[in-house]
Amino acid sequence: MTLFHKIIQREIPADIVYEDEHLIAFRDIAPQAPVHVLFVPKATYATLNDVPADAPEIVGRLAVAAAAYARAQGFAEDGYRIVMNCNGDGGQTVFQIHLHLLAGAPLGRFGTPDGARPAQL
Ligand code: AMP
Repeated sequence: MTLFHKIIQREIPADIVYEDEHLIAFRDIAPQAPVHVLFVPKATYATLNDVPADAPEIVGRLAVAAAAYARAQGFAEDGYRIVMNCNGDGGQTVFQIHLHLLAGAPLGRFGTPDGARPAQL
């Protein structure tokens, strides 16, 4: 069982901001922006690679819930970023898929650590 399953099961505490039958959302313990909320499906998939092609709603619901949260909190028009990290190069550390919602300030560019622009593959 992953850390996030334990949060879903209320075995470890979290600052939960939204929950429905499909997903849960809670504040990231190490925020990378003034608003940093994780949207986690209750269905178990370790990485985005594991989501079946015939189940795109697993991922879609996370994005739609993040947008609804942004509207409800009043920062949808200012803007926000959603991110899903996958495996080593993506920087994934918890192997239950989740979507990061980052907001609350201009976020700058993203990708390489210091903004360097590598040759495209
Ligand atoms: P990732 O690196 O994409 O797998 O994201 C995992 C995220 O989970 C990181 O941003 C962590 O800060 C966050 N995290 C780890 N443990 C907890 C926790 N107990 N409660 C909330 N967020 C957590």
